[in-house]
Amino acid sequence: MKRIHPIVCFLMSLLLIYFMGSGWKAMAASDKEGEKFSASSSKTVKRETEPWFKTRGIVAGWNDVCNPELIDYISLAKTNGINTFSIFGANRESEEWKEFVRQCGKVGIELEYEEHQMSFLLPRALFNSHPEYFRMDEKGQRVSDANGCPSSEGALAEVRRNTAILAKNYVPTNNRYYFWFDDGGGICHCDKCKGLNYADQALLFENEIIKVLQKINPEAMLAHLCYPGAEEAPQKIKPHPDIFLEFAPFYRNLLRPLREKSAVGKYGVTHGEYLKTLEEHLKVFPAETAQVLEYWMDDSLFSEWNPNDLKEVEWNLDIFRKDLDTYASFGIRHIVCYSVYVGPAYVKKFGYPRFLEEYGKGLLNYENKE
Ligand SMILES: [Zn+2]
Repeated sequence: MKRIHPIVCFLMSLLLIYFMGSGWKAMAASDKEGEKFSASSSKTVKRETEPWFKTRGIVAGWNDVCNPELIDYISLAKTNGINTFSIFGANRESEEWKEFVRQCGKVGIELEYEEHQMSFLLPRALFNSHPEYFRMDEKGQRVSDANGCPSSEGALAEVRRNTAILAKNYVPTNNRYYFWFDDGGGICHCDKCKGLNYADQALLFENEIIKVLQKINPEAMLAHLCYPGAEEAPQKIKPHPDIFLEFAPFYRNLLRPLREKSAVGKYGVTHGEYLKTLEEHLKVFPAETAQVLEYWMDDSLFSEWNPNDLKEVEWNLDIFRKDLDTYASFGIRHIVCYSVYVGPAYVKKFGYPRFLEEYGKGLLNYENKE
């Protein structure tokens, strides 16, 4: 199955280059809410004390957010309840970026960085000297195309070492780190790894990564991405308690609510399968910290990653609301959504994207009635 998000991956690689030379420190003030949540009514939260959805985020490119004259993401977020940004592709040394960070801090918008990081954590250049660090394919050959061998102590040591480097240049304001496994990559089939599914193998690395992160930031949490190719919940490896699930239903059908089990998405994946996947994962990961990464507003997806031929986002408020009900019914309180390509060029072509307001307000004002 083809499952790569090619432009997004390319942009994220560029972003990583910027990160490495950057000494940027988080400046945004935290406006954490929800810590007062009462366990006595685990499903009902009064709107005046705390929104149900604690994280109300977007993931976008610097090109999308850098021109406030055409679309002012910071103002839009502040006005409509969006409280978290993950921005890729910025030049971290630029004054524009630093000013953007300052402005986010002023209005309490959290900054985090959702990235595939395995090729930095386990550099492919090590393959010649240490092929055993890398995954074995189904034919018994070590290959450096993706991920690695999590049963290799050398590979784990390399990942620990590079985690410490990455974490210092890569500081989220909300303590939530995202060092995703490779996008669409294969896993290891060596004697020690066989029998471990994709999620198990990712967790063997992630359980090491979180320990290093918490030495640097005791509050650190780390995402485990449930994504195409990695839909099966972990079977054998238990996640560290501060690893949170990030559920990204990339192949879902955006024109049907997720609750509609018979709805068919890309490659024949049904919503019923996605719901089952989520349910299985929530037997392993806590719902309280789990996050959804959605695509309702992802114009890179609608435009098939061609920024020169933008298509209109097929936003549907009714589906969005029903999906919020679905996610809330699982106890999920953290939602982020791509809005890639919803930037200046989008506004020029299609006008102001009102759906960003509906998205923010929908999350902010959501009341879980269950
Ligand atoms: Zn292996």
